[in-house]
Amino acid sequence: MSWHVLGAGALGSLWAARLAGADATVRIILRSAQRLADYQRAGGLTLTAEDLSRLYAIPAELPDASTPIQRLLVACKAYDAEGAVAQVASRLSSGCEILLLQNGLGSQQAIAERWPQARCIFVSSTEGAYREDDFHVVFAGRGQNWLGDSNGGSAPAWLDELNRAGIPQTWSSDMLARLWRKLALNCAINPLTVLHDCRNGELLQHREQLSGLCQELVELLEASGQPAAASDLQGEVLRVIDATAANYSSMYQDVRLGRRTEIAYLLGHACRSADSLGLALPRLHELHRHLREHLSQRGLPTD
Ligand code: NAP
Repeated sequence: MSWHVLGAGALGSLWAARLAGADATVRIILRSAQRLADYQRAGGLTLTAEDLSRLYAIPAELPDASTPIQRLLVACKAYDAEGAVAQVASRLSSGCEILLLQNGLGSQQAIAERWPQARCIFVSSTEGAYREDDFHVVFAGRGQNWLGDSNGGSAPAWLDELNRAGIPQTWSSDMLARLWRKLALNCAINPLTVLHDCRNGELLQHREQLSGLCQELVELLEASGQPAAASDLQGEVLRVIDATAANYSSMYQDVRLGRRTEIAYLLGHACRSADSLGLALPRLHELHRHLREHLSQRGLPTD
């Protein structure tokens, strides 16, 4: 069965190159004729891993190509994901699988609700990759991929294909808890690094602020039916800050480079969920307001 990879950015290219390297059938879907021409000029995708670069001449096509899609890996940012799937929706076979690599929450649920005929598999990745250039991606950090569906369904047989491609994977029976936990860690750390203009480690100078946010995030997770994701949240926030003290958060880097952030699917999702549960979480809302103001002052989208 072929893999269709929607979006040849950092993570999409990392997956596509490894799958193609293990002889899986892969096709890349690019957003426009211009991007397809750019890709063809580049001769394919280049992946650099451990200082070795290799070109993968993976076939690419436009969203309106005619081949049916049975397994779709959506590798766009959260704010592009639903629109990108809509462009290929007429090609989705019945019973197809859609793997969703997006960070945060909200985009995955929107896709699962809009295309109920597909089995949506949520992926949470701690692997790191960045775009060195168009269609040239650097594998920057080894990590893990957790996959699971929102109904706690059983693992698909093709997980072995990921093993053969060297894509580390673990099937999770509680994927939503994992995504909520990651979202909460992100909400506690990333916006503060932007607003205090600092590396992760420097947040230890703002312990009271961190502690107040963690209290509200725990309240939100518990009210959302995610007590496992709430357990020792503050302890883990401090451990993550310590382990990544010298790093700049992904949101910090996006803002510094003038790129749109995924705020709507992180802090924005947390605030919307709190509102719909009738929870008063003033610190989270204040942080959201302050962050949006900061983005707007820099001419960046606030959603
Ligand atoms: P990225 O490098 O910006 O790649 C996104 C890609 O999606 C771009 O190549 C973009 O095309 C493409 N795209 C957007 N709309 C499209 C459409 N309608 N049709 C086809 N392609 C479309 O982003 P990323 O870093 O890979 O991140 C993807 C997701 O993974 C995010 O939610 C991110 O938070 C998550 N994630 C990333 C990492 C990482 O290390 N990079 C780690 C963990 C999680 P253009 O090239 O034409 O703009």
